[in-house]
Order: sequence, then C-alpha cells, then structure tokens
Amino acid sequence: MIEQLIREERRTPVAGVCDILVVGGGLAGVSAAAAAARLGKQVILLEKSIALGGLATLGHVCVYLPICDGQGNRVFGGQAEEFLRICAKYSYNTIPECWQPGTKHVEMPAKRYSSEFNIPACILALDELTEDLGIQVIFDTVFCDVILEGDRCRGVIVENKSGRSAYLADYIVDASGDADVCYRAGCRCESLPNIVSHWTYEIDTEHIRENLDSGEARKLIRMRWFGLRPDADNSKTEIPQYYGDTVEGVNGYIRTSRKLALDYLKKNDRPGLAMLTLPFMPQFRMTRRLIGLEEFLLHGEHVPNSVGVVCHSMENPAAHHEFPYGALIDSRVENLLVAGRMVSAGGYAWEIARTIPCCVFTGQAAGTAAALALDQGKRPLQALDVAPLQKTLEDTGVEIHMEEKFLHGVSEKKFNHNPKESGMSGIQLDTLAY
Ligand SMILES: Cc1cc2nc3c(=O)[nH]c(=O)nc-3n(C[C@H](O)[C@H](O)[C@H](O)COP(=O)(O)OP(=O)(O)OC[C@H]3O[C@@H](n4cnc5c(N)ncnc54)[C@H](O)[C@@H]3O)c2cc1C
Repeated sequence: MIEQLIREERRTPVAGVCDILVVGGGLAGVSAAAAAARLGKQVILLEKSIALGGLATLGHVCVYLPICDGQGNRVFGGQAEEFLRICAKYSYNTIPECWQPGTKHVEMPAKRYSSEFNIPACILALDELTEDLGIQVIFDTVFCDVILEGDRCRGVIVENKSGRSAYLADYIVDASGDADVCYRAGCRCESLPNIVSHWTYEIDTEHIRENLDSGEARKLIRMRWFGLRPDADNSKTEIPQYYGDTVEGVNGYIRTSRKLALDYLKKNDRPGLAMLTLPFMPQFRMTRRLIGLEEFLLHGEHVPNSVGVVCHSMENPAAHHEFPYGALIDSRVENLLVAGRMVSAGGYAWEIARTIPCCVFTGQAAGTAAALALDQGKRPLQALDVAPLQKTLEDTGVEIHMEEKFLHGVSEKKFNHNPKESGMSGIQLDTLAY
C-alpha cells in the first residue's frame, strides 16, 4: 500500500487579489467582511457551501441569543445588534418591541433582546447585505492551504469546480469556525471533543391543528432534537463524542447523528408526520480554536486593549467582560486574524465566544482591525495602534469598556436564570441549547 504520495510541482493560477480575504461565510465571516467593506476595502469572502450563515443557517441554529444582560442593559451593540435584525428581516420577527435599534437600557421586567429567525429568509438577507456592500462572495470553494512568506500569509490555495487556484490579500480573516487557516499556517491551536446533538425540523398534522389559530407560520413547524444536551450530565451515555477537526470525527458525528434521526422516524412512522430538513453542516460546537497572542479570559476587570464588552447571553449574563484585541491575532503571523467560534478564548470564555452575538462581534472587530492595519501602512497586526480601532468600533455602537458598576462581575441576585421567567420572548424554550 502506498502510504504517502510525493506532491507534484504544479502551476496554480491566481483567481483573485484583494485587500482583505475572509475564509468562511458563517455569521462571523459575513460580519468581518461587512466591517472591512464599510471601511472602503476590497473584500473577497470564500465559502465552501452554497449559502451564507454557517451554523446559524446550514446548521439550523436559528436562535440569536440575547444581546442584553437580563437586567435591561444592552451589552452587544454595533453589528451584533444590526445582524440580529438582519437575521429576522424578511420573515417572522420575534424581537420584543421595547428594544428599538440603538436602545441601551429598558426598564425591568423586560423581555430579552433576542430573536428566533427563519433560515431561508436569513440566507437571502445575508446575500442582499453582502451584495449591497460590494463584497465578492465565492461559494462552493474550499480553503486548502496557506501561502506563507516568512511571517506573512500572502494568500490561500482553494479548490472548486474550476480546479485549484490561489487568492492573494494583504490581510486574511480566518472565520472557518475550525481555525483551518490558523492550523495550516502553523499557529498554536486547541481542539475539543463534542457531544452529538442534532437539530431538525418537522411538520406534524396534530401540532399544526393545535397551532393553526395563532396565525404564525413559525408555530406550525416543530423543532426536533436528537442526541445530547450540553447542560445535562452526559457522563453515562453510550453515544460517543467526536472531534470536529479530523475527517474521522466529522464522518463519525454525521453518521451517529443521522442514525438517531432515522431511529426516530422508524419509531414514528405515521402519515401525519414528515421531517422537513436535516442540517447541512455538522453541528459541532467547539472544534479547534487559536491560542493567540492573548487569551480572552473571565476576570471581570478592565482590559486596556479591549475591543468590546461581551457577556454570556444565558448563563450569568449579568457578568460583563471586556474582550482583548490580542485574542483576535496570532503571536507570529503578521496579517492573520480570527473571528467567531474559534477566537483565542480560554476555558469557559470559549462558551461565551461561540454564541452568535459574540461571533458577530468578533467578526466586526477582526474586519475593522484588518482595515485599519492596512490604513496604518500594512502594519503587522501585533503592532497595530489599538486606539483608532476602539474609536471606530465605538462609533458603530460597540461599548469598549464596561461601566464601573459592572467591574468584578455583577451580583447575580437580580438576574433570574430561568429564561421563561426572565421573559425570553418568541423563542420555543426547548430549542435553547446554545
Ligand atoms: C447544536 C448547537 C446549538 C447552538 N445553539 C445556539 C443558540 O441557541 N444560540 C446561539 O447564539 N448560538 C448557538 N450555538 C453556537 C452558534 O450557532 C455558533 O457558534 C455560531 O453560529 C458560529 O458562527 P461562526 O461564523 O463562528 O462559525 P460557523 O457558523 O461554523 O461558520 C463557519 C463557515 O466557514 C465555512 N468553512 C469551514 N471550513 C471552510 C473551508 N475550509 N473553506 C471554506 N469555507 C469553510 C463553513 O461552511 C461555514 O459557513 C449553537 C451551536 C450548536 C452546534
């Protein structure tokens, strides 16, 4: 058996050159691309599937977790607030009326600032957004390798229907969810195993009859969950866990989760029930992340190079945290940034970093940082002047530093952990499983 092939020499055509190249069109990648395009940069966005949104659309996670802290304070502003509205733009909109765009505080008791959205409508809204901003989106194109020149990443190699080609850029944002670009560039990374959990949607004539009078299409479709919940004790389960950064792990996850769906159909074989769709990307939560120049950690203190305030939308949201710029970059590669669920976030902070609001926020911060580094004379990201970055983000509504009263974590007394009682609006509560 041949164990290794010697790679042949080959000429690779350059398919595109731009200022900022974004790999991965999940919500983090779209956010990064949008932020850079808005600052006048030429942006190319590469996506291996045929739609934008990543886990939020192809992975069926259509619940934009709250961008407020459960005490009436908006935490995420800027594009994290804008994207919440974009996701819900062309279909049912479950954003509570008390939260108008730009509102920073509402009186308690208030419903959480969140929304459930319709997946196809969200995909179409993201198409529209990227087109309006002049972002060149290239679908059906898989990132394969990096082109390194010393400590700079000159571009990437991709494969698609046209064959193998290269894209070159001054700055590259890895928003692949799995730190694919970072890993190929030799950056330090961490991987975690994942429990199997599988979201699907179904129609059931019984359920439709019960909800028909609501007049809401959303209530006629039912979400169905297979596998394990992240908040349960999974120590005794026989369902294996999988890493999302190997072909064996991805295939194992897909097969196991689909088998659970098939078992369900076998047990519920009746004419009134039909499964509507299966997810089109494996629903991994944490696959691989960068261990960057700095780590985003939870300590409740001011961070001088903060690019924004974040919180965990569901678990103790009253505790605010500042996110350091250094968690978006590698210590060595001069022009590579990360965005989304693969940023440099250590321990429990990774749980915060992977929620949709935080992914959109880090996307905006990464796209903005890339654009400003270009303006600062193609400066290495490690030497970026952070003050203009903070100012640019602040101008869009991002809070850079938390108020003094939020320092060292706010007392949880006022926060009610039960989402039902704290007024989550519009969301089928059993779907909340971030
Ligand atoms: C089961 C489950 C439930 C969840 N529940 C919630 C919830 O209720 N609310 C919430 O806010 N968050 C929830 N999350 C977390 C949240 O959905 C994700 O963390 C977030 O959507 C990730 O966004 P992202 O853009 O960083 O990554 P992704 O959405 O993973 O996007 C990465 C994109 O990159 C593309 N890509 C990957 N590799 C390549 C490559 N080599 N070349 C080109 N393109 C590539 C992918 O196709 C994808 O489009 C949940 C996650 C899971 C798995």
